[in-house]
Amino acid sequence: MDTFNVRFDTLPEWATFSERRLASPPGLSLVGPEAGQINLVIAGSAVSALVTLSDVHPPLADVWLWSLAVAWGLGPAAVRLDGRSEAVYLLAHPVAQDVLSLELLRLPAHHASSDPLSAQRVGWLEPRTNFLRRWGRMWCNLLTGPFFDRRQWGIDPEPMRGMPWNELGDAPALEEAPTWSRAQRIAWFYFLVAYHLRSRNHFPEGPAYWRQRELSLIRFSLLAAQAGWRQLRADAPPEKALQLIDEAEQVVRRVQANIDGSEEPNQLERELGRAYFEAIRATLHEIADIVAACLPLLPIGPGSFFADKQARRAVILRADGREWLLYWDDRLIRKEGAFHLDRLPAWRWPVATGPCFDRNALDPIDARLLRFLELNASPIDVVCPVCGYPCMDDDWMEAEYCEFCGFALYKYVGNGHLPGIRQYRKNFLRWGDVLPPGFPRRKLGRWRKVMLTKAYRQLAREAMIEWDAWLKHPDPDHKPEEVWRRWNRLQGLA
Ligand SMILES: [Zn+2]
Repeated sequence: MDTFNVRFDTLPEWATFSERRLASPPGLSLVGPEAGQINLVIAGSAVSALVTLSDVHPPLADVWLWSLAVAWGLGPAAVRLDGRSEAVYLLAHPVAQDVLSLELLRLPAHHASSDPLSAQRVGWLEPRTNFLRRWGRMWCNLLTGPFFDRRQWGIDPEPMRGMPWNELGDAPALEEAPTWSRAQRIAWFYFLVAYHLRSRNHFPEGPAYWRQRELSLIRFSLLAAQAGWRQLRADAPPEKALQLIDEAEQVVRRVQANIDGSEEPNQLERELGRAYFEAIRATLHEIADIVAACLPLLPIGPGSFFADKQARRAVILRADGREWLLYWDDRLIRKEGAFHLDRLPAWRWPVATGPCFDRNALDPIDARLLRFLELNASPIDVVCPVCGYPCMDDDWMEAEYCEFCGFALYKYVGNGHLPGIRQYRKNFLRWGDVLPPGFPRRKLGRWRKVMLTKAYRQLAREAMIEWDAWLKHPDPDHKPEEVWRRWNRLQGLA
């Protein structure tokens, strides 16, 4: 049974119907929503299709999933656009580097009897980026329109409304990784989806409404994780959390139905809070369990290549479940999650080629940085990309300036690829700080000024010498003291 109305192959019925081939891409537009449906109009021909928005299982979820799959090169992929009396499918199939073949097939109500005369099949070729740009823009314009506000969707908010439709055309065209089977690529896609469906651009309009929307998204995430599991395993995926989502949604409905106050509102509110958090917690655990059980079935390990959303490439140096040590093509070495970068979702796609890593060719700072990462020296897995010494903060939200070289770590956390790191390194090697001596100090905060004093620099040098010694005899229970503690002692503050 397919959870989603998306299939990663061509339909068996497809060949039955003769195709009208358009010489150039047709105009595409959306009209509505009106009376519960949206019309997708293919301009310049007699063909049109209806996309029905229901408030229980929005077909927009399927459209979003299909659009993402096409953007990430997972064709052939077909989505069923309409769930009413007839079936309308849209199929995308890559035919050349960066060219898509698109086909729209409208089947009669009982297409098992395949009456070729009543079916319509129309197709065209289009540059991949072109299609994704106008397709994404079209949906984005519709979904940010006034029809999709709370008054229209107050009962069951459309969870796909806030997805980044406009970014579809920015996904890079990537070659396939030959070590990955199609089923493995599809599974990986579903796992990425499971970790990326989060509310965006959304302003809470009452707790019940907000929770209903989050529950819709987390349900979709869980279904995506289960779909990934089914690509790789014959047994059934765990699905205990679905029941908790159902139960929490029932409480949402009771809150919405409680206009006359027949139930005590505060009591009901507390019940909703409990049911909601239990459902979210259990679902996140279940998704993590599903992915953990499936990761060993994917060809991921030292030497595998991945690309990110900006088409930057990395090679895995070490993979420990969902925790990866990556070497990027801009020579950056980072510890990252398989699906996250500093707890923010990150897209990674398996590719055939990537940077060549040679441990012996690393400069002394990178060699040190890699050792600290391998030895888990930093509690938050952040080692300063400029000086190569570990950040000892307990929480990545607290990471501010590297206490050795003054680099602004808070800019680096969540976005490793900063220009200028090589220049900062030169400054650090020459002056011991990322800022050159002539930098106007009035622009700096109080602590940053302290870091540039002679006395502080002396303490930082002592700490770096201790860390160098620690690397020779690493002891996880005895790490050198932070520089700020040494400073406070010097000042008589501690
Ligand atoms: Zn540093």
